[in-house]
Amino acid sequence: MPELPDLEVIAANLAPRVVDRTIRGAEALHPAFLQSTDPPLAEMEGRSIEEIWRRGKYLLFRLTGGLHFAVHLMRAGWVWHGASQYGATKSTVFRIELDDGNDIRVIEAGFPKLTRGWLLSSLDQGPLSGLGVEPLGEGFTLERFAAIVSGKRRQIKKILVDQKLIAGIGNAYSDEILFEAQLSPFRYAHTLSPAEIERLWRAIPKVLRWAISEIKARVGDDLYQEEERSFLRVHGRAGKPCPRCSTPIGEVLLSGQRTDFCPHCQHVDELPPRGGSRGGPRHEG
Ligand SMILES: [Zn+2]
Repeated sequence: MPELPDLEVIAANLAPRVVDRTIRGAEALHPAFLQSTDPPLAEMEGRSIEEIWRRGKYLLFRLTGGLHFAVHLMRAGWVWHGASQYGATKSTVFRIELDDGNDIRVIEAGFPKLTRGWLLSSLDQGPLSGLGVEPLGEGFTLERFAAIVSGKRRQIKKILVDQKLIAGIGNAYSDEILFEAQLSPFRYAHTLSPAEIERLWRAIPKVLRWAISEIKARVGDDLYQEEERSFLRVHGRAGKPCPRCSTPIGEVLLSGQRTDFCPHCQHVDELPPRGGSRGGPRHEG
C-alpha cells in the first residue's frame, strides 16, 4: 500500500508533466471510484491544473476556480500518465484527458477496486477533514506529538498508523520508524518515558524524508507502478539479519498486519500475550 513517501514522489513526478495543462474531460470507469456527487465531474472540464501535492496518503490536484480533486490509491492503485490514444484497459478506474494529447489515469488491477476519488469545492469537506497532523509539516512539534501519545493505553504502532492522529504513515513505515527509534512495536504509549517520546518524534520525519530520497534515487522521474521498498531495514525482511546487529528480523501479526522488528535493537524481550508467529492467528484485534 502506498504511504506518505510514495505519494510524495508520485506528486513530485506527476506535477511537471501536467501542471498548467487544461482538462478536456474526466471520466470514472469504475462505479465505486467517485465518492463525491457535488460538484459533478463535468465541472473539471475546461479547468487547468494549478498544483499537485500530497496530504497524508492523498494525492491532491488544485484546479482553477478553487476546485480540488483528491485521490486515494488505497492498497494497489497507481497513477499513469501517457498518450490519450492508448485505450483504457479494464484496470483503468479513472481518467483525466488533458489538452496536450495525454491522459492522467488511476490504474488498479484486480478486484475489489478500492481506489477512490473526490471532487471538492473545499478541502475542509470530504475525506481530508478528519486527517491528523502532517508529520512533515511545521505543526508536527514535540508538544503536539507528546499530546497525541501521552497516557494512551494503545500500542504505539497503532497510534502511528491511525490517520486521524498522524496522517500518511502505514504498516511499512511504522515498522521502520520504530526500528529507527529502537522501540518495540508492542510497547503501549502510556509506558513511554519523555525521552522515548522525543526519540520517536525525531524518528518519524527522519525516516519519512530518508525514504523519499531513497525512492527518488531509485525511480528518478518515473511514475512507478509498485512501491519501491528494497531499501527498507526491517519491514518485509523477516528472518534476514538486522542491518545494525545481525539478529534475525522477527515478524508477528499485529491486528492482522505483518509487523517486522529487530528483537535485539528494539528491546523486544518477549512476544505479547497470545503472540502469533508468522501466518498464525490474529490477536490484539
Ligand atoms: Zn538489530
